[in-house]
Amino acid sequence: MNRAEEIASNLSTVKQKISTAVLKSGRELDQITLIAVTKTFPMEDLSALYALGLRELGENRDQEASVKVSQLPNDINWHFQGGIQSNKLKSICSWASVIHSVDHYRYAQKISEYSKNKVMKIFIQVSLDIPVESRGGVDPERLIDLAGEISLLPNISILGLMAVGPVNQPVEPAFARLQQIHQSFIAHYKDAKYLSAGMSGDYEMAISYGATHLRIGSSILGNRPLIK
Ligand SMILES: *Cc1c(COP(=O)(O)O)cnc(C)c1O
Repeated sequence: MNRAEEIASNLSTVKQKISTAVLKSGRELDQITLIAVTKTFPMEDLSALYALGLRELGENRDQEASVKVSQLPNDINWHFQGGIQSNKLKSICSWASVIHSVDHYRYAQKISEYSKNKVMKIFIQVSLDIPVESRGGVDPERLIDLAGEISLLPNISILGLMAVGPVNQPVEPAFARLQQIHQSFIAHYKDAKYLSAGMSGDYEMAISYGATHLRIGSSILGNRPLIK
């Protein structure tokens, strides 16, 4: 199998698993957005994904993503899901369609400022770690206040919540908690109906707890090349 065939085969396995999990939870496939996380993978892999019809790609670093974005057709929706650095936000806003990792008001302020002629879609990242760690994500206790402040900013649309499975705890109760947090969030913000959760190791479980946006890298592309 060459690399393109390998990617095609992995992608079809992932899609099958997604379908099965969606059916099992009594949900619909069109509620699910699959984002292929291409960080650290070479251009040829991204081109292979494009040829397979994928138009949702996820990156974690501005510098790397900017180069990739400039080399692929412009009908791709680019998702930024990495840790945010203020000084990169201007550039990120120039190529990203969706920013998944907003966890501070000051980042949202900058996104609003840099999205003058468009509306930037964002997810607010929630921390599932107990205690809340510095890995990113707002403390669920502070979520409603943060969203209240962000929702007043122009040029930003809150799609919903994003989370990464916790490191030192079982994922399932954490995803159950995330689903509850999201449900009560929707009661305040009815348009924020999307939930970005689920990576290679846990996307089937995430689907059963209401995830709508799956961010999957290694199950499709294999082990990531070492980060320089
Ligand atoms: C890298 C990354 C992913 C994809 O991880 P895999 O385990 O390779 O699927 C998803 N979400 C975030 C925030 C990431 O940094």
